[in-house]
Amino acid sequence: MSDDRAAPPKVIAIANQKGGVGKTTTAINLATALAAIGQRVVVLDLDPQGNASTGLGVSRAQRKATSYDVLVAEQPMEEALIDTAVPGLALIPSDADLSGAELELSNAPRRSYRLRHAIDRFRRALSARGERCDYVLIDCPPSLNLLTVNAMTAADSVLVPLQCEFFALEGLTQLMRTIDLVRGNLNKSLEIQGVVLTMYDKRNNLSSQVAADVRAHFGDKVYDTVIPRNVRVSEAPSFGKPVLLYDLECAGSRAYLGLAKEVVRQERRAADALAPA
Ligand code: ADP
Ligand code: MG
Repeated sequence: MSDDRAAPPKVIAIANQKGGVGKTTTAINLATALAAIGQRVVVLDLDPQGNASTGLGVSRAQRKATSYDVLVAEQPMEEALIDTAVPGLALIPSDADLSGAELELSNAPRRSYRLRHAIDRFRRALSARGERCDYVLIDCPPSLNLLTVNAMTAADSVLVPLQCEFFALEGLTQLMRTIDLVRGNLNKSLEIQGVVLTMYDKRNNLSSQVAADVRAHFGDKVYDTVIPRNVRVSEAPSFGKPVLLYDLECAGSRAYLGLAKEVVRQERRAADALAPA
């Protein structure tokens, strides 16, 4: 029996129920950096705020079919894809409709599996068409709600952005408990892809203290690459551009490229470990 789940794309949920920690920034810029090193990537915007869609330069008027349609109306993902300015990077946008999805799905059977079914269909559609997609990055909302549970149920792994600030570790227990619950009940193969430290300020002792604490806690799950606080990163979305298109040479762009390389290396190592000797 063929197992759809073992086939590409690798699906990574970018999650942390705290707002403002860099989920959307990481979704946009890790996706762009992965595309820049030759991967084919889809960003699935699963936040009703639609910041990933705006940040990738897709205006409201361009958002014909959205993640709401995929989730609630079971519209095939491939029909909702929009090409972005980045070669190899497509987007499934979101809009405010998505904020009603939780309520609309409240009585739906297997409501936590909606996105998983959509992605399994997408995998089959890709293979039927002979098309390639290496990664789907899901930008989760700042909450552990049904949308995030759908993302974790559909995903192969969770990538956790962690802002280097005093309360960084607060709330992580709850996030890890949610991941455990999903693993126990909905998606037993869900893994932690990694923890990425964001908005790191090397002049600030607190940043390095938080980084040390996180590394002590999560060990080698923490990426070597640290995303610095960089004004170019925060300016780019207002131009509808990933930072790599806005300023390729800035520290933020270099960091996201480094992170993309680490993610790809992780996948190679995992594939090598599975290959027969
Ligand atoms: P989330 O999606 O977790 O709510 P965002 O990615 O939207 O978080 O980031 C929150 C804010 O911080 C945004 O205004 C964003 O531009 C800014 N930001 C994120 N990463 C960086 C960074 N590395 N340097 C500077 N500003 C950043
Ligand atoms: Mg966000």
